[in-house]
Amino acid sequence: MFNFIHTYKSLSDFFFKNQLPQTYDNPELALFNYELAEELNLNIKTISTKELAHFFSGTKLFNNSEPIAQAYAGHQFGHFTMLGDGRAILLGEHKLTTNKLVDIQLKGAGITPYSRRGDGKAALKAMLREYLISESMHYLGIPTSRSLAVIKTNAPVYREKIEQGAVLTRVAASHIRVGTFEYARYFGEKKQVIELVEYTVNRHYPHLKVEKNVALYLLKQLIDEQIKLVCNWIRVGFVHGVMNTDNTTISGETIDYGPCAFMNEYNLDTVFSSIDEQGRYAFGNQGKIIYWNLCRLAEALLPAIADDEKEAIDLCTNVLSNFPELYYSNWLIMYGNKFGFKYCMKGSGEEIFVKEFLSFLRQHNLDYTQSFLMLQESVPSLNENYSTTLFRDLKSKWKQLLLNQNISLEVTLEKMKLCNPIYIPRNHLVEEALEKATNNNDYSAFTNLLAKLKKQYDLEKNYSELIELSPKNFEGYVTYCGT
Ligand code: AMP
Ligand code: MG
Repeated sequence: MFNFIHTYKSLSDFFFKNQLPQTYDNPELALFNYELAEELNLNIKTISTKELAHFFSGTKLFNNSEPIAQAYAGHQFGHFTMLGDGRAILLGEHKLTTNKLVDIQLKGAGITPYSRRGDGKAALKAMLREYLISESMHYLGIPTSRSLAVIKTNAPVYREKIEQGAVLTRVAASHIRVGTFEYARYFGEKKQVIELVEYTVNRHYPHLKVEKNVALYLLKQLIDEQIKLVCNWIRVGFVHGVMNTDNTTISGETIDYGPCAFMNEYNLDTVFSSIDEQGRYAFGNQGKIIYWNLCRLAEALLPAIADDEKEAIDLCTNVLSNFPELYYSNWLIMYGNKFGFKYCMKGSGEEIFVKEFLSFLRQHNLDYTQSFLMLQESVPSLNENYSTTLFRDLKSKWKQLLLNQNISLEVTLEKMKLCNPIYIPRNHLVEEALEKATNNNDYSAFTNLLAKLKKQYDLEKNYSELIELSPKNFEGYVTYCGT
């Protein structure tokens, strides 16, 4: 089924441990992503669902897999610690017809040498959540790991209460993290940092190989990739919730869907995660945090950047000093697109308007997604907040700016459609789908919601319940890290 190769195993064994997944007596298929299987060119036609459950729970091994657990460290809420795949096992890298590699990883596959006090397991509800939100992000056009399968292990998992166990198959460009570099730097030697730089550049950014200072260019590239990613999150109102350095990828994909959720009312302070008491990973902090994470990456890369530490620090500082400017210009372009502007420059009327509009949303506790729809008039007025003189004035200002840019409303609306989702995974619908699936083994709400989330920009599909806000009792919605 998989065209596995094992390039990660060409790294020194400092970076991983061989580890077989746990086996189960009675694994059962909960979800299988047939569309993704087709994209990956997997031939599953002759495989029964029972067999799929055996393979994707790790009970039966594909004959060409060579399972490993990867080592990494990371800063969690600012504190440095040794981590590693404590419950995930990489079966191999599947080589696509394009020659691109994707990691096939089982999450919840049992104890590994990096499990610390954990049980190596995953709970069904958390894995269903990762499947739903990661697929939704994919269909929103945002780089992300994807979900190929969820298998129920039919074995209990002991959390605050007893939960059903599950294994999720995660498909990602790779699982190299900022934390993998931190591991090389603080648990290894210079040669391991260099080894990881070379591997990463070969795998993800081969065009950098010609650079004299490859590690420095890798840092530069990652600044670009992560800025693009976070601006995409801001565009759709996504709150990752746990942007620790071990959850920040080198591929530029969103990874590790724990306490993430989509913001409703526009508020930079939006936090859903139960453990993020200080709001470190709040919606509006994500740009600052990615900068902080990139600084940790730079520190880890120092030995590969220059022999003289001071020189290496100077080079990194110089590169990182561009971050604020780069982030802000990407942020402005993204918002410019959300409003359908042809251009949106620093110091322009458009820039002032973007800020005015956002503070209007904040002041009136308006829903982020809905408000852009109201500007586009793509759906009938949703509530009285959008019939006020204030909102109408704001809309006239916007239209005037478009006129000044000599751009027709028609062209604008076409452009806006591409970056303003109509449907997002509303928290109450996500919860309802997960509850029904886990409590009643009823996947109808889940599959229904997922089907709609594949058409998030498609106004033709009038899924009005996805435009509607969560009921009042969903204010203060709390998410959990979900292990
Ligand atoms: P996460 O919060 O998913 O980013 O995980 C942080 C670290 O905790 C990683 O090293 C995980 O492998 C580890 N971890 C999370 N849950 C478990 C578990 N149930 N058993 C063992 N390790 C775990
Ligand atoms: Mg993680």
